Amino acid sequence: MKIHEYQAKKILSKFGVAIPKGEMAENPADARKIAEKIGPKVVVKAQIHAGGRGKGGGVKLADNPEQAEKIAAEIIGKILVTHQTGPEGKLVRKVLVEEALDINRELYIGIVIDRAKESPVVMASSEGGVEIEKVASETPELIFKEYIHPGIGLQTFQARKLAFKLGLQGDTFKKAVKFIRSLYQSFEASDASLAEINPLLITKRGDVLALDAKMNFDDNALLRHPDIQAMRDLTEEDPLEAEAAKYDLNYIKLDGNVGCMVNGAGLAMATMDIIKYSGSMPANFLDVGGGVSEEAVKNAFKILVSDKDVEAALINIFGGIVRCDMVANGIVNAAKEIGLNIPMVVRLEGTNVDLGKKILQDSGLDFFPASSMKEAAEKIVTLTAGK
Ligand code: GDP
Ligand code: MG
Repeated sequence: MKIHEYQAKKILSKFGVAIPKGEMAENPADARKIAEKIGPKVVVKAQIHAGGRGKGGGVKLADNPEQAEKIAAEIIGKILVTHQTGPEGKLVRKVLVEEALDINRELYIGIVIDRAKESPVVMASSEGGVEIEKVASETPELIFKEYIHPGIGLQTFQARKLAFKLGLQGDTFKKAVKFIRSLYQSFEASDASLAEINPLLITKRGDVLALDAKMNFDDNALLRHPDIQAMRDLTEEDPLEAEAAKYDLNYIKLDGNVGCMVNGAGLAMATMDIIKYSGSMPANFLDVGGGVSEEAVKNAFKILVSDKDVEAALINIFGGIVRCDMVANGIVNAAKEIGLNIPMVVRLEGTNVDLGKKILQDSGLDFFPASSMKEAAEKIVTLTAGK
């Protein structure tokens, strides 16, 4: 799960990570009030679940509260396009108003889980700011890494090593060591999958602060953190993915035009593979689960037909625990209720398959039956050909 910068900063500050003074505003008048409190000079920052806001015009400096109000009015309600949002951009609903600070240096610090090394890794670079992706691809030697033993956590010598490589000295060095230790604590305690500070600011006075903050969390650990779960912003998520999550369906939107409804993750992957192998592209991954109910089939059907990118759908169900007749009833009832506005290839196999096929046939609806995965994939290709 992703959260906004202002929310990440709240979590971080609880663990003693230094952040600038600031508050979130949902309208220009509130932005002005915040600037009156913490200003006069402030920075107004668009809050969306994507980076690259600075370059996209979503981070602006204001000299006084009036200007902060004006900038907030420009940013809120705007579609912000950055290199991370895709060309369609994201609607800005909130801004973070923060005290403007003098920048001496912009560094980078980030923590992620390195799956290959099976441990968290803390990465630091003196080349922070808005071009860290470029640094990573062109001059990877400028990114320093410390792997953390998951059992014992970050050791102080590791934080010191990183602060040293960043070229810090004296008081600033000490503040950076404390910063890195607090950042690691917040990462570990909140079951984060990512905690990224870019830029990590060194002010002219030598203070160390998180000027930007990004945190992602392991969805499987969210039940341990109701406070973090409450930070979920559904308006930032793909509406169909949010809808699917409500019904406990495993759904991920993809780029193609063939909708899939499958039971079991393995079969779902195999179905996507054969669709692609046959020359089409899956529009989604959708696993309705092993013990699927008629209700779940109906909800999954709804999600498939409401995706405007889906031109045809392939329903591929293996009846093991689940019975094909129950699935067939689910599909027929959903199609009657919602409407069958796209061609659907249905392949059923396993328990009560003959009864399931009969239900589809007797429904009077225009399904395209298939007996094997190969046949199903070939039918899909014909149905979507030239599109
Ligand atoms: P991102 O572009 O989405 O990563 O947004 P950031 O929060 O990282 O902001 C982008 C850039 O805006 C930073 O690298 C800074 O150069 C600049 N910026 C952000 N806050 C301040 C501030 O308080 N003062 C000044 N002078 N610049 C800022
Ligand atoms: Mg940034």
